[in-house]
Amino acid sequence: MPILKSSILPRRSFLKTASALAAAAAVRPSLLADSAAAPRIAFGGIGIESSTYSRIRARMADFSVLSGAALVASDRFAFLKKYPVPFLPTVVAAATPGGPVDRATYEAIKAQFLGGLKALLPLDGLFLPMHGAMFVEGMQDAEGDWMEAARKVVGDHCLLAASYDLHGNVSQRVIDNIDIFSAFRTAPHIDREETMQRSCAMLLDCLAKRLRPTLVWAPIPVLLPGERTSTTWEPGKRLWAQLPKLNAEPGILDVSLLVGYVWADEPRAAASAVVTGTALRTEEKIAVSLAQQYWDARREFQFGTRTGTIDECIKLAMAAKTQPAIVADSGDNPTGGGTSDRAEVLEELLRLKAKNVVFAGITDQAAADKCYAAGVGATLPLSIGATLDPLGSRPVHAVAKVVFLLPATDPMDREAVVQIEGVTLVLCAKRRPYHDIADFTRLGLRPADFKIIVVKSGYLSPELAPIANPSLMALSDGSINQDIVHLPKNRYRAPSFPFVDDLTFTPKAFVSARSKA
Ligand SMILES: [Zn+2]
Repeated sequence: MPILKSSILPRRSFLKTASALAAAAAVRPSLLADSAAAPRIAFGGIGIESSTYSRIRARMADFSVLSGAALVASDRFAFLKKYPVPFLPTVVAAATPGGPVDRATYEAIKAQFLGGLKALLPLDGLFLPMHGAMFVEGMQDAEGDWMEAARKVVGDHCLLAASYDLHGNVSQRVIDNIDIFSAFRTAPHIDREETMQRSCAMLLDCLAKRLRPTLVWAPIPVLLPGERTSTTWEPGKRLWAQLPKLNAEPGILDVSLLVGYVWADEPRAAASAVVTGTALRTEEKIAVSLAQQYWDARREFQFGTRTGTIDECIKLAMAAKTQPAIVADSGDNPTGGGTSDRAEVLEELLRLKAKNVVFAGITDQAAADKCYAAGVGATLPLSIGATLDPLGSRPVHAVAKVVFLLPATDPMDREAVVQIEGVTLVLCAKRRPYHDIADFTRLGLRPADFKIIVVKSGYLSPELAPIANPSLMALSDGSINQDIVHLPKNRYRAPSFPFVDDLTFTPKAFVSARSKA
């Protein structure tokens, strides 16, 4: 039985062996009731999914940056109020997935975060709500950079707990700077808050029991798009379904399995298994087992819906006897990092003279502004698409009738609905998805009334999937092209499947440097 090495937490005696930790696990936390001994916990993080194949950059205007009272009041972190110990706000920055983050933007947000942390010292705990697939210009392993910087500020004694999207990439540097980790267990994601709660609960519990858990991970050299690795069909379904059971094993606090983010040309990009616990051997066994299972299943991962070219999918949708057929323009999906300004699907809909179609939506600020200037009922010629990345695609030129304009005080919130022949098209000023029913109804559109719905999406959202009849995914071009093996600029990747088809792999578990200190 290996000895679990632990460091001393200031102001607390520390338990040194796994058996002692197991005994302590039976003791309910008492310090939370004692305000004098209540731990000081801060929270802050940054989240974006950055396709390194995108030509656009995420700049400050693309981020929502919350701090202080506004952060405490945000819906996303309302759950923190249920804990008896206050979580002190620093900065949380989030952006719609897109291209690499502009370096100056990242450095400015990081400086604000670190400044917030310094003002709150001393800290016993820090909760880091992250995504895990950020790419910053001129930097590798951006989350590792963020966590290492946080660690330097808060010191060795402070417990760091991170929560991740399962499409995040992990690295040894990430693992070496934190103590606690949890990732989503569902894709489509329906456990965002639950995942953050797992992380925060572990943090509070470990602080109450005065223990530093051991973090173990096993990288898996497999990189597949989320559209092949959903947890709602096999093999993802069975792989993720076992996590709660594994989580219940003695000495195990959390078990996570991550798909990784494939559109990141980075050495760290890979799937991974990450285990938090107090029983090193069991953690290693679980991490290695999950890595082996994922590896063994690598050729089983397939798209969960019918796929085809844009032309094939539109023809299938037009010929369908049922409705609404939903066509997902997968290469340009903004929630995966797509630019969302591409108009190839619109071009094909018009060429094929498709009728009773709603297409939500194409990002084109200039076209939206022209519609607002012309007013509802006006008919005007428009150039649509290819405004954010003119090199990536070409615009469609068409005469459109303005049928609805969403009231908006900020011009960037403008959304115009226009009619072009048989296509009802949404033009939005800023990049955004239309994945919820309310995204349509607030524009006066009832999606179920249309024969064909076109959305820029990969696998369909929990609200759209149930109404799709049939569901079709167009393997379209864009920053998150599903034809990953043929993507250009694969310069920095470590060898992984399917980029290297005949790769051999033996899983190995790596322990956080925090547990060796
Ligand atoms: Zn995700």
